[in-house]
Amino acid sequence: EPKIEAGLRKSRRGIFRDIAALFERSEIDEELYEDLEALLIQADLGVETTVALLDNLRQRVRREGIKDPAEAREALRDEMVALLEEATRNRKVKIYQRGVPFVTLVVGVNGTGKTTTIAKLARYHQDQGRSVMLVAGDTFRAAAIDQLKVWGERLGVPVISHTPGADPGAVVFDGMQAAFNRGVDILLIDTAGRLHTKYNLMEELKKVRRVIQRHVPEAPQEVLLVIDATTGQNGLVQARMFTEAAGVTDIAIAKLDGTAKGGIAFAIARELGTPISYVGTGEKVTDLAEFDPETYVDALFF
Ligand code: GDP
Repeated sequence: EPKIEAGLRKSRRGIFRDIAALFERSEIDEELYEDLEALLIQADLGVETTVALLDNLRQRVRREGIKDPAEAREALRDEMVALLEEATRNRKVKIYQRGVPFVTLVVGVNGTGKTTTIAKLARYHQDQGRSVMLVAGDTFRAAAIDQLKVWGERLGVPVISHTPGADPGAVVFDGMQAAFNRGVDILLIDTAGRLHTKYNLMEELKKVRRVIQRHVPEAPQEVLLVIDATTGQNGLVQARMFTEAAGVTDIAIAKLDGTAKGGIAFAIARELGTPISYVGTGEKVTDLAEFDPETYVDALFF
């Protein structure tokens, strides 16, 4: 079973099966729209996105004179794909040059799957023949540094780290220097993700960014926000916060396999317009897939 399909198994067998079943009714009536609205909200699309999607569907059904519910289901599918594609179009083309580090700053709240996603990305780039280096930029948690080192060993990838409590800017500085000196293709930088009132995570991320840009003004080429699919609309709140403060360019949705509510992707795409680039579909290092709107929607419904 392909990865996106596997990641969405729970969603496909849960709420989205109920959604598909709505269209087995004999006619398209107000009750169908109401039931659809309730299920889409339940599937984590959020109220705004659900309302927008249903508006588009209603217009289309009217405009095209659709009478058959099965046809309305196809129209819904197309509208859902279009919604995801709109955000995907905002994705900048990635230019990977041999020997010139492409810098990815990975941000997100602790526990969302940031470290695992970094390991998966390292593996993804290795599979494409690119050399990778990791930077343990979350210097606050000793466990985060250790975990990254373990992944580095497993993957055969160097990890630049300092001792716990060190200045994140300093380790990132060293990481940039090492990556350029050794001519690695991909530099993946882990960052802190603790949300406490007194501690300003966003300021720290801005500082890290400045350190990177002191080396290379156009870096980081990618600021990847990791969102946990199982946290529902909370993920959207986090996404909004990080997008504003950290200049997020791409989103990775982790733990897609752990939820029956694969609808969060639509809420992110519509409300932030930030492209979703990757999805995490399991705990293994190979459980990462490039995001694709059509594959995603079809995996939800079929
Ligand atoms: P971090 O604190 O954000 O760095 O989070 P970790 O990378 O340590 O991940 C937290 C937990 O989520 C770990 O137990 C991971 O194995 C698990 N995890 C991460 N990504 C996925 C995923 O795509 N699917 C599943 N099922 N678990 C995941």
